[in-house]
Amino acid sequence: MDNRNDGPEGEDAVREAAQAEAHQMSHSRAAAPERVAVSDPPPDPNYPRYRVEPGHWLKLGDVHADESEHYTRKKDVADELDLQRERIRDLQARLYGERRQSLLIVLQAMDTGGKDGTIRGVFQGVNPQGCQVWSFKAPGPEELEHDFLWRYHLKAPPRGMITIFNRSHYEDVLVVRVKHLVPEDVWRPRYDLINEFEEMLARSNTTVIKFYLHISKAEQKHRLESRLKDPNKHWKFSSGDLKERAYWDEYMAAFEDALNHCSTGNAPWYVVPANKKWYRNLVVARTIADTLEAMAPQFPPGEKGLDKIVVPD
Ligand code: ATP
Ligand code: MG
Repeated sequence: MDNRNDGPEGEDAVREAAQAEAHQMSHSRAAAPERVAVSDPPPDPNYPRYRVEPGHWLKLGDVHADESEHYTRKKDVADELDLQRERIRDLQARLYGERRQSLLIVLQAMDTGGKDGTIRGVFQGVNPQGCQVWSFKAPGPEELEHDFLWRYHLKAPPRGMITIFNRSHYEDVLVVRVKHLVPEDVWRPRYDLINEFEEMLARSNTTVIKFYLHISKAEQKHRLESRLKDPNKHWKFSSGDLKERAYWDEYMAAFEDALNHCSTGNAPWYVVPANKKWYRNLVVARTIADTLEAMAPQFPPGEKGLDKIVVPD
């Protein structure tokens, strides 16, 4: 479109369009980090295929929970995982110092899927002052008095912070749907409401990325059995998990819908093969580090004239 003869109003429109585009680009930079941030390609930079692309329906059955690229043992990824954690530590310090933007990481999985282990494994050594983890259980009486997004919005990250949601607003289209806690005409419109919520966060300088840790039903059986066998893991076993397991197929259908309806340029979903815990941690760490890098946080400049200051005795 040629706007040269449109006069001042036309120029305003062009400027606004350019600003909107720049805004959109800055978000898609952060949301699609692998397209811009991997200047020095990692050994096997094929993890972008775990990203759910808007417009391409992803079938969960096509994602192999056992996948681990060419790596076969935990030892194979130890160095790269260390490197990714170091990148996260460094970039988190910048994000905290800058205080302009924030990162929201959503973790969802079936029971035993490894949400806790991922947080432990990926955030080792990150300054605890700059991170928050919020776990969401079934809503209590006060939460139920509000709209479904209220409790999540309250915990969204302030500027400078990395916030992890251990379960999230997605429960309101997962367990709520599978267990028929509300009728379909209530949960169905939530996909759009969630997209709007995340878009609103993105426009307030919060980058949102979401991980679904994908384990197989057989792996869940194995993990539940090992919790039963080991007395030190008994506290982790909940017979409620067996009840949820009986709804496996319904959960997979609900996850598939949530992933496909709510993976957007502003807030992409990643489906992480999670049967191998060490590979899961690597994929998540790499994605977070690249996302932070695409956000390009900078330490703010120091006061003027620091080079002339002498600290008195
Ligand atoms: P862990 O078992 O590792 O301690 P967890 O996240 O499984 O962690 P639990 O207390 O076992 O914690 O489970 C929390 C439960 O809360 C889950 O069954 C989840 O489905 C349920 N829940 C979370 N959000 C909602 C919601 N909005 N509505 C109904 N149930 C919810
Ligand atoms: Mg549980």
